[in-house]
Amino acid sequence: MTTVGIPRALLYYQYYPMWKTFFEHLGVEVVVSPPTTRKTLAEGAGRVVADTCLPTKVFIGHTISLLGKCDCIFIPVIRSLKSKSYNCSKFLGLPDMTRAVVPEAPPILEIEVDINQGKRRLYQEIYRLGRHFTWNPLKVREAANAAWQAHLEYRDLMWRYGLTPPQAIDNITGIRQTPEASLNHSDRPRATIGLIGHAYLLYDEHINYQLIQRLQQYDASVVTPEMLSDYATESAISKLVGRAYWTYEEEVVGAGGHYLENHADGIIGVMAFGCGPDSLMMDIVHRQATRQKTTPFMCLTLEEHTSETGVITRLEAFMDMIHRRKQRGEAICV
Ligand code: SF4
Repeated sequence: MTTVGIPRALLYYQYYPMWKTFFEHLGVEVVVSPPTTRKTLAEGAGRVVADTCLPTKVFIGHTISLLGKCDCIFIPVIRSLKSKSYNCSKFLGLPDMTRAVVPEAPPILEIEVDINQGKRRLYQEIYRLGRHFTWNPLKVREAANAAWQAHLEYRDLMWRYGLTPPQAIDNITGIRQTPEASLNHSDRPRATIGLIGHAYLLYDEHINYQLIQRLQQYDASVVTPEMLSDYATESAISKLVGRAYWTYEEEVVGAGGHYLENHADGIIGVMAFGCGPDSLMMDIVHRQATRQKTTPFMCLTLEEHTSETGVITRLEAFMDMIHRRKQRGEAICV
């Protein structure tokens, strides 16, 4: 049986159940790289130029960790998912970059997704991908339909039950029961913290120093972009910027706008050092928070040299301030 490797990085958090379903319907075994470690990051960072963004370095590290474990590696090129909205350039050249910096990698399976080219082109791309495993177009179509259904169920699980992508993936795959989130330290009321940023920053526990668990330890209920419906995200975007020009910036602007509008007790924006789209989009949310003057906002920028102690100190100070405001009744928790 052919084995396809999927790096646990970048778009893995958005689409893993869909990709897994597609390949498994075509009789392919799927293997995912293990969670990020210091070694993963060091190996990835060692292959690319220094100013490459942290998530791309992590992605290359995960690709390296799949060497010898699979027959090919799946790296999709997601150009655009909505009309006239484009993805960050790092995603567009990911397969070529991977081939260049990891020459010992097995063959790379690509699919190009660009809604601006029309649905017909998308279907051709899906068949082109499926033809690596079967010549029967009906089987490819069945696999694609099952994959789309799996994706809808995954999204539904997250926004309906307030699950993070790793929790929803655990739930779907049944690999591990997600432990009870709460590690409450005290009797004080919990604060609602909107954590905004790309999934590959929010849910990679190595590069963000277990941000979500730490916030829970500081008596916070954490809400993230994936816990919102498409409608809530899009309506917040249209109020803040009219329309998003970058495909995955909805996670920043839409969620930030929504949690500001609904008076979360605080918002933490997480971005990668050197990320162009984030530096613009996070600034829009930050400015809106400053204008509203109701919700404290903190920005955390991550890179491989970010100090864990620095992150902890900033989180502690932020959460202390949030809890003091709550005790004085200065914020309304939704
Ligand atoms: S959006 Fe930013 S963090 Fe994400 S891949 Fe592009 S440059 Fe890197």
